[in-house]
Amino acid sequence: MKVISKAQQAVLKILGNPQKSASGYRLIKYCVQENVEDGVLLFNVLTREVLLLTRDEFENYTENKELLDKWFLVPEDFDEKATTETVRWVLRNTAEKPKHITTYTIMTTTDCNARCFYCFEKGCARIPMSEETAHKTAQYIKEHCGGKRVKLAWFGGEPLLNMQVMDIICEDLKNAGIEYYSGMTSNGYLFCEDAVSKAKTLWNLKHVQITLDGTEKVYNRSKAYIYKDGKSPYQVVLNGIELLLDAGVQVAIRLNLDLYNADDLMNLVDEIAERFSGKKGLVMYAHHLFDTDLSMAQTHTDEEWEPRYEAMYRLNSKIDGYGIGWTRGIKKTLKLMHCMADGGSARVIAPKGDIGLCEHYTDCEFIGHIDREDIDKAMVESWKELSPEIPECNDCFYYPGCVKLKKCTANSTCYRHEREANLREIKRSMLHEYKLWQQNAQKADDEDEEIC
Ligand code: SF4
Ligand code: SF4
Repeated sequence: MKVISKAQQAVLKILGNPQKSASGYRLIKYCVQENVEDGVLLFNVLTREVLLLTRDEFENYTENKELLDKWFLVPEDFDEKATTETVRWVLRNTAEKPKHITTYTIMTTTDCNARCFYCFEKGCARIPMSEETAHKTAQYIKEHCGGKRVKLAWFGGEPLLNMQVMDIICEDLKNAGIEYYSGMTSNGYLFCEDAVSKAKTLWNLKHVQITLDGTEKVYNRSKAYIYKDGKSPYQVVLNGIELLLDAGVQVAIRLNLDLYNADDLMNLVDEIAERFSGKKGLVMYAHHLFDTDLSMAQTHTDEEWEPRYEAMYRLNSKIDGYGIGWTRGIKKTLKLMHCMADGGSARVIAPKGDIGLCEHYTDCEFIGHIDREDIDKAMVESWKELSPEIPECNDCFYYPGCVKLKKCTANSTCYRHEREANLREIKRSMLHEYKLWQQNAQKADDEDEEIC
C-alpha cells in the first residue's frame, strides 16, 4: 500500500484509535475508488487521504490492519455521519477565527457593455462607483486588512467600464504600503494594450475569468455589445485574451453551456486550443448556463438534466484532451465553510460603498457600509445558515465535503446529476494526485541513478 496524498492529521487526531468490532468491518461510506494501471486508488473524503492498493491488497481489504488504522475500514454498525458532525464541530470550534479582512470583491460598476440575454443582474440599476467612494474603499481596506497582503477581486457589471476607480484604489493602497494582487471576472472586451499594461504594472492582475458562449457567430448573437463600430466582439475578446496571456496573466475561459450551444462549444474548444496553442496560463471549463437561477435547479427533473450533463462531460473531456482543463488536486483539509459568504475574511463592496458577503447581491443583503464601523450581525449570521439536509445525505459519499448555504443562489440545492458530477470531479482530482505522485517517484529514481 502506498500513500499518494496524506491524511489531515487534525481529523485523525479527533477520530482517535479505530473502534473494535465483533461483527466485522466494511469500507467507510466516504471512500471513493478508482482503478489505475497498477492497482486501485482509494480516497477517504473525511480524512482526505489517498492510497494506492495493489489488486491483491484490494481483494483482501477487510483484513488489512492499515486500512483500519487509517479509518478506511469501520465497524459494520458505524455511524459515519454523526462522527463527521463531531469532527466538524471540534474543528470549527478550535480553528482560529480570521482576525482581518484580506479578500475584497469590488464592484466597480453594475453597468455592463455586453448585455447578455441571460444576465443575472438584468433589471438592476446601472451604478458606477464614484472616485470619492473609491478613495474611501481603499481607506476601508487599509483599516481592516491588519497590514496583511490583500486580494482584490474586480467584479461588476463589467469592471473595466470603470477603470479609473481601480486605478484609484490600487494607487491609494500602494501609497499606504499595503501589498495587494488582483483577479477579475470580465467579458474581456476592453482588454486593449493600455489596459493590459496597467493590469500588470498597477492592478497586479494575476488571473481573469472570461466567459464565451460559442464560436464567432453564436457569441456575437448572444451578446448585444453597446459599440456600433462594426468590429466583431468575438475577435476583440480573443485579441484581449491573447494580450493577457502574452503578459503572463492567467486566463480561465468559462464556457456557458446550454443545450442550444453544446455542439458549437465543441468547435470552440478546437478553435481556442489551436489559436492559443503553446501559450502558458490558459485554462477552460464548462459551466451550466442558468445554474445560478435557483428556481431552475429546483424545478428541473433528472431527465431534463441528463442531456445537459452529458454535453458537459463531452465538453470537459475534449478540453482535457488538449491539456487545458482546470484540474484541481485533492483539497488537503476538510471543508468547514462554503465560500466567501460564510468564511469570515472576505467582503464585497458595492458601487455606493455598501458592504455585503455574496457577490451575487448588488442592491440588498448588505451587512454595513464603508462609512460606518457597525455591522449587521444578524445578517452575517444569516449567511452561515445551512440548507436543510435531504434523505440522500444519509448515505452520500460526499457528505464530509458538502457545505451548502441556504441563501446561496448558485449551490443551495442538490440533485442526482450534481452528485454524479461531484463523484467525477473527485475521481479526476484523485488521478491528478496519482500523476503527481508518479512524477515525483520518477524524479526520485532519476536522481538516485545520477548519484550512483
Ligand atoms: S446535499 Fe447532496 S451532495 Fe450534499 S451530502 Fe446531501 S446528498 Fe450529498
Ligand atoms: S453565490 Fe453562493 S457561492 Fe457565490 S458568493 Fe454567493 S453564497 Fe457564495
